[in-house]
Amino acid sequence: MKPFTPPFCASPTCSHHFPDGGAPYSRFIAWGSYLTQAFGRVPRFRCAACGATFSRQTFSPDYYSKRVLDYEEIVGRLCSCESLSAIARALGASTDTISNRVSRASRQALAFDSGQASTRHPEEDLAADGFESFCVSQYFPNNITVLVGARSQFVYACDHATLRRKGRMTQAQRARREVLDSVARPDPRGIEKSFARTAGESLRVLSDGARPRLRLWTDENQAYPRAIRASPCLAAQIGLGRLRHLTISSRAARTRCNPLFPVNYLDRELRKDLREHVRETVCFGRNVNRQMERLSVYLWWHNFRKVHRAREGSRSHAEVAGYDQGRIEKGLRSMWQRRAWLSLTELTESMLDSWLRGRWTPLRCGEDYLPRFARA
Ligand SMILES: [Zn+2]
Repeated sequence: MKPFTPPFCASPTCSHHFPDGGAPYSRFIAWGSYLTQAFGRVPRFRCAACGATFSRQTFSPDYYSKRVLDYEEIVGRLCSCESLSAIARALGASTDTISNRVSRASRQALAFDSGQASTRHPEEDLAADGFESFCVSQYFPNNITVLVGARSQFVYACDHATLRRKGRMTQAQRARREVLDSVARPDPRGIEKSFARTAGESLRVLSDGARPRLRLWTDENQAYPRAIRASPCLAAQIGLGRLRHLTISSRAARTRCNPLFPVNYLDRELRKDLREHVRETVCFGRNVNRQMERLSVYLWWHNFRKVHRAREGSRSHAEVAGYDQGRIEKGLRSMWQRRAWLSLTELTESMLDSWLRGRWTPLRCGEDYLPRFARA
């Protein structure tokens, strides 16, 4: 086996941290080693340019972890409707350890998604809609807006908004909601803002493809046109005729011919593949950021690993959406070998919130913990 050499300096403030036109990083010197139970002897290095020290583990997705677990297996089980507890039992680990690996996997997935998007050529219309689930308790339903390719069912973007509980309630439930409103009232314009962020990605889809125009289908929710009017970029593209916003009733038959088929299809997949979104489950999400980490992992799996149509060949949703097959295969081979770095990854606003755990969880005090290395 070839001895490990650091691919770049681990300090984001050093000029040798960023790729130098393909020239391999050589300004480092060996700086001893240390022994670990999980990873054997780990070599250390020192950057000759800035003096930062780092080790082989600094570049591993398992940085700071004390046990090696198979990411492929954890992700496969998570995306096959197994709860965190069930995965933990099967692998002989604690639920916290599995949750920790899912967080790490989510950052790998976001970086993978971002890296692949730079060479895509999407040539399809889009559909957007909100997937309804909940987090913390049924008093805090949420709306996860997804932007899906009409032909490929590739998910281009997603965002999360916590909502106020609505619908039929008993008097006691209504009183309980009043109490919760006083301590944790969700943003009444949550759906609108979330839709604007998600629909904004349709402009990138438009610019990455060669089509002069793109259609964006939604249902007749009044928050959507309001969000479009409030977004100067979206409104400008609609004014130019490059983007058309079309609506159809959400009561229309949910067939393959329905323009909202892509979002209806994803709705079904999420309900059956992710344990926390199964109706009446007791394994519901307790933390919004963790929920979005699991969703990021799931969407990576859906987009790049899952076959588009089980009876029609082996192409993934990403390949049908115009992503480069060779590049996907190359990326998948090294997916769990190199740690994803925030400083080297281009993320949308929503992806950044998922990476940095920046979303609000109702009834939770303070920010969610994120290891310092995940911010580098
Ligand atoms: Zn350096």
